[in-house]
Amino acid sequence: MQTGHHKKPPLRWLNVAVLGIPTLVSLIAVPWYGFTHGYDAYEWLWFLLLMTFCELSITAGYHRLWSHGAYKAHPVLRFIYALGGACALQSDCLTWASDHRRHHLYVDDTEKDPYCAKLGFWYSHFEWMIRDYPSTRADLTNVKDLLKDPILVWQRKHYLALLLVMNVGVPVLLGWWHGNIWGSFLLAGFLRLTLSQHFTYLINSAAHAWGKRTYDPQQTARDNWVIALLTFGEGYHNYHHTFAWDYRNGVRWYHYDPTKWLIKCCAWLRLARDLRSCSSYRIEMTRIAVQYQQALLRCEALQDEAGTWKEKLESEYAKLVAALNAWSDTRHAWLQAKSAALSQELQQELDALKARYKQLKQQLQCHQSEWRTLLEHLGGLHLARA
Ligand SMILES: [Zn+2]
Ligand SMILES: [Zn+2]
Repeated sequence: MQTGHHKKPPLRWLNVAVLGIPTLVSLIAVPWYGFTHGYDAYEWLWFLLLMTFCELSITAGYHRLWSHGAYKAHPVLRFIYALGGACALQSDCLTWASDHRRHHLYVDDTEKDPYCAKLGFWYSHFEWMIRDYPSTRADLTNVKDLLKDPILVWQRKHYLALLLVMNVGVPVLLGWWHGNIWGSFLLAGFLRLTLSQHFTYLINSAAHAWGKRTYDPQQTARDNWVIALLTFGEGYHNYHHTFAWDYRNGVRWYHYDPTKWLIKCCAWLRLARDLRSCSSYRIEMTRIAVQYQQALLRCEALQDEAGTWKEKLESEYAKLVAALNAWSDTRHAWLQAKSAALSQELQQELDALKARYKQLKQQLQCHQSEWRTLLEHLGGLHLARA
């Protein structure tokens, strides 16, 4: 542990119990019961369903909706998220969002970021919750907007009752229906709670330790698709820290981000609206600007005295930026023309714009390919010198 924490603050025993007891039960009682009695498909199904319910309530509700305002949600959806958040047992949403907003505002600041990754993997994973660190003390001054949401105020007021209903009442009831309380209580209760908590905590620990820093290399947040698999899409964390208000974390169509798919489906069902997203132009500009800066450093390290590589890099970068600008402007003009009234004359103009847009898209793809080849070449040279 680094400076400022030589003498560790006292433990918060309630949090130690809330984290420790489910973990111990999951490590000891869950496998023991499995070997001696076994679990059936009904119990595993409810484990998966409740796991999904908890994780999505945190990712789509606590995180993207309430902490970041990435979209607006119907009260029915907000109520479901509030129940799922109590089921996930990660504190009430107002506290969670307040901590999370400070995490974004002060990311990597060892004094102010409540789960600062620079204070170590285990600190950011769970230690920040079990000790009385000053940066983790409740302070709701940064969630005044959320205090106007009656569902969140209600959830906070009845949090203890809600967490007991969701974590004890529901699993026991499911077991009682099935004729075996213990199997459901252990799987859909304890194991589901332990795994859903630790999977979420991986975003604060692992997603700040391993992966690529594509959009902002200055901070610890990383893009990691393996973590995305466990966290319903939250593993693209460098992107998220760069464009936190985007309802997506995985921006490419092939990125595994079930939270984004859920929000999109809710929008079709009119349960969500005003989805905010960053334009592909801005995303691409940010990405290539980072690559350019990193490649410049490589050129310097190569002792490129004649400046040949640097010159080539600057020229390719300028061409790529120009192609991106031309593509984006034409796309914008084409989309605008498309939404205008379609007279015969305008139709011809629209067809011409469309053809130009397609041509520019092809040109952009050529420049992107040349850019990638140049970066790969520079990377290879750099490795050979190292
Ligand atoms: Zn983070
Ligand atoms: Zn966030």
